[in-house]
Amino acid sequence: MIIYVDEQAEPKQLETLKEWLNGIGVEVHSLKGENGTILGLLGETQNVDVEMIQSLDFVRKVVKVKEPYKSSNRQFHPNDTIIEIGEAKLGGGHFAAIAGPCSVESTEQICGIAKAVKEAGATMLRGGAFKPRTSPYSFQGLRSKGIELLLQAKQITGMSIVSEIMDIASIDVFEHVDVIQIGARNMQNFELLKELGRTDKVILLKRGLANTLKEFLMSAEYIMASGNEKVILCERGIRTFETATRNTLDISAIPMLKKMSHLPVIVDPSHAAGRAELVRPLALAAVAAGADGIMVEVHNDPERALCDGPQSIKPDDFKSLMGEIEKIRSVLF
Ligand code: PEP
Ligand code: MN
Repeated sequence: MIIYVDEQAEPKQLETLKEWLNGIGVEVHSLKGENGTILGLLGETQNVDVEMIQSLDFVRKVVKVKEPYKSSNRQFHPNDTIIEIGEAKLGGGHFAAIAGPCSVESTEQICGIAKAVKEAGATMLRGGAFKPRTSPYSFQGLRSKGIELLLQAKQITGMSIVSEIMDIASIDVFEHVDVIQIGARNMQNFELLKELGRTDKVILLKRGLANTLKEFLMSAEYIMASGNEKVILCERGIRTFETATRNTLDISAIPMLKKMSHLPVIVDPSHAAGRAELVRPLALAAVAAGADGIMVEVHNDPERALCDGPQSIKPDDFKSLMGEIEKIRSVLF
């Protein structure tokens, strides 16, 4: 439920209303807008006497939010959320590129790629340390050692780092990681979502392989309901009947999510396509469709990559992609 309060309302009146709502089990999120204050109500909203609230002279209107996602709902927060990570900003017209290898493999590999993608214009470095592999016989990642190497690359380049967490038990290892990724396979690991909601880390939440946008936003809601509102949504392709590509990039998810939610939306063309030659066109399409950022797998030696080599592009290709993105953004935005 949302209460739109008149800009002339006295702070005392607002305070009394909030206290009364808290008293009947309702949590109030207050947001100052251009034409007054928006009060987003969460919790026991069935206890709220809508007619009574409506009759208060400083209340403009009361709207029931019918969608089950509330905090992530655009109605709760009409303006785009802008998330700051080090020097980078995401959302509300700010664009950021995250690039790096699928997996951290060695000091030379991650530091070399970090320097190259930074030089090409990436603002954040990605690198998987805990890898969710389909086969238990595939490379599982360097785990805590991988995070250490990422931190080295961060120290050398000054870039913020992004890495995937797979379970609550390893959360301490992520203490100095700037953005914690929840991968597609864990999008509905509700205990993990709740735990990360209790941290103050920026969370990059990937869409599940076969999840609807509503389910996606409900997962964001889990994080936000636990207190952490810094969530970035990432469309990374969904499973369809098509087998020519690893997944199918759902371009319509970008404008739809932006309509449904105020959270920043980024696109991962690498996992969507599964093929290096498709990364460029998909990334450009995502930018044109309004994505707030991209996350791209870049490797210095894709043929020998320990994970996802076929979808990894080389640093030079990433550099020209960044130039083209710049062109598209300067024409459209
Ligand atoms: C990844 O980003 O390395 C990854 C495993 O992605 P996804 O969860 O989208 O498959
Ligand atoms: Mn990968």
